Amino acid sequence: MKIKHHLSDELLMAYAAAELPEAFSLVIASHLSMCDECRARSMAFDALGGAVMEDHAVEMSEGSLAACLDRIDTLPQANARALRRSQGIVPAPLLDYLGGSLDQVKWRPLGLGVRQAILRTSDKGASARLLYIPGGAAVPDHGHRGLELTLVLQGAFRDETDRFGPGDVEVADSSVEHTPIAEEGAACICLAATQGALRFNALLPRLAQPFFRI
Ligand code: ZN
Ligand code: ZN
Repeated sequence: MKIKHHLSDELLMAYAAAELPEAFSLVIASHLSMCDECRARSMAFDALGGAVMEDHAVEMSEGSLAACLDRIDTLPQANARALRRSQGIVPAPLLDYLGGSLDQVKWRPLGLGVRQAILRTSDKGASARLLYIPGGAAVPDHGHRGLELTLVLQGAFRDETDRFGPGDVEVADSSVEHTPIAEEGAACICLAATQGALRFNALLPRLAQPFFRI
């Protein structure tokens, strides 16, 4: 897999520190399971985080030291989870959210053949979804209230910024308004995490927005 668009150091550090909402951690863990380069960087951040905590351990109370050691124990497991086997185009970290396979996904239509499935995550401020975009179809152009991470699982899309193929992650924030269009051919399937609601620019999608929770 030739991956061009990777995760930033900031995102990998926040992931290692377990500071991100579940939806974002899911996208990052999924990319890590597909990308040797980011996995190596992520492991370095895990090791760095553990070393920093050990340095500070002497100054800590007994309780916080125990909590700290618990954290160090759990960190490598995130990478171990990412290394579990994927199933077809579904990365291992995503499997649990789908009830085992892509066939279990309950898609809802968004219009023009585009479908989405919202995944169950624990946090209110961020949501995770699968998007199914038929070849040649577009996701309505939209802006973002916060961070959006989109990981391509199958096919490819293009928008105003670049082309994104399997394994690529697009990082968009409130400064980005874009219209992702799937390439002709196989449908593009993406895993996306968004902070806050998306802002659609066309009237109809905006009216439909509360209903579809996009
Ligand atoms: Zn990467
Ligand atoms: Zn977007």
